[in-house]
Amino acid sequence: MKKVESRSILYPDYIAKSVLELKPKVLKDIGVKCLVFDIDETLVPSRKNQLTEEYSLFMKSLERSGFKIIIGSNSTRDFSNITKHFNSKVVKPGKFLFKPLKGYYSKVINSSGYKTEEIAMVGDRILNDIVGGNISKLTTILVEPYVQKRGLLHKHYIKRAYKKTI
Ligand SMILES: [Mg+2]
Repeated sequence: MKKVESRSILYPDYIAKSVLELKPKVLKDIGVKCLVFDIDETLVPSRKNQLTEEYSLFMKSLERSGFKIIIGSNSTRDFSNITKHFNSKVVKPGKFLFKPLKGYYSKVINSSGYKTEEIAMVGDRILNDIVGGNISKLTTILVEPYVQKRGLLHKHYIKRAYKKTI
């Protein structure tokens, strides 16, 4: 997990190769107490319903470190096979309530019980997870997509984001 030096809402606060690279100590030091996870290409390959042993153990360790875990996905499918491994709250999207809309993020913030500055959004999508999270003033962490290879524009963005790291 690396800090990205940019004040643009287009860039995340941190970038990581995967969720497994998240650093609980760094997050705690900046006051983060609640982590909102995207599902597809963040915790599992797109549309898969199985968490690997490694990811399951990591999520449990985040829980043990005291983080509240929220699932914030635009997918309406049943995630129970993924979320059975750890305690979490799922914030379902609605007809006019989905990422990156502010309304969806407000729902996430309200249902978390935490203050905006105590919440971090973790996801692989630049618009839905990063720009949406930034607009709603959350700490944002971009992870590289789990499996799915994105286009040149995405690769270029990731390269630029890494260039902005310190
Ligand atoms: Mg995703």
